[in-house]
Amino acid sequence: MAGERILIIEDEVKIARFLELELSHEGYQVELVHDGRKGLEAAMGNAVDLIILDVMLPSLSGMEVLRRLRQSAQTPVIMLTAKNDVTDIVMGLDIGADDYMVKPFAIEELLARIRTALKRSKLLAAAPDVIDLGSLKIDLGQHAVHYGDDLIDLTKKEYDLLKYLAENRNMVLSREKILENVWGYNYFGDTNVVDVYIRYLRIKIDDRYNIKFIHTVRGVGYVLKHE
Ligand code: CA
Repeated sequence: MAGERILIIEDEVKIARFLELELSHEGYQVELVHDGRKGLEAAMGNAVDLIILDVMLPSLSGMEVLRRLRQSAQTPVIMLTAKNDVTDIVMGLDIGADDYMVKPFAIEELLARIRTALKRSKLLAAAPDVIDLGSLKIDLGQHAVHYGDDLIDLTKKEYDLLKYLAENRNMVLSREKILENVWGYNYFGDTNVVDVYIRYLRIKIDDRYNIKFIHTVRGVGYVLKHE
């Protein structure tokens, strides 16, 4: 699985050299740059699979590198911050960093985060644009749902719920699990809202087209069935 290209933008030579050795040892192809401007050039110019980006850099700060990079590329970025500076971390994540490490860090942890970030970006790249359930098609790019030639008019929540059921088709999902994934961890309502929205979807899809996609599993939750 290794062989991915990792760009390290880090001005502290000792740390940079250490990272280069460790990552090469793991089988990654490593490129090393010591200042922000050259780092941005390297990030834009070459095919890079992941970037390790120090925040405090000469010529162009890590934040500025990230900001400019994100205008055109979604290459995964793991930020390195010198101290536990929450403002830096929040700003970096807002601008589009995928993850961060606070120095000093254990190399094993950085390696684990690199693996996670690479895996996530591969999944994103490989993710289909359309979930195909026969006559029912969910266009993830357009946020549109079609049944045959009909465009089904769904609210944002109905769409999110249908998408979640479809992504986990043939799996029984509890109301709690649906609530957590579609409404979020911070949703304080009760699980009845799931039943209400399932009913909306059934009216708009199952009942309207006289099909049975969404099945109730008594006492447990729901499953969208599609072979
Ligand atoms: Ca630095």
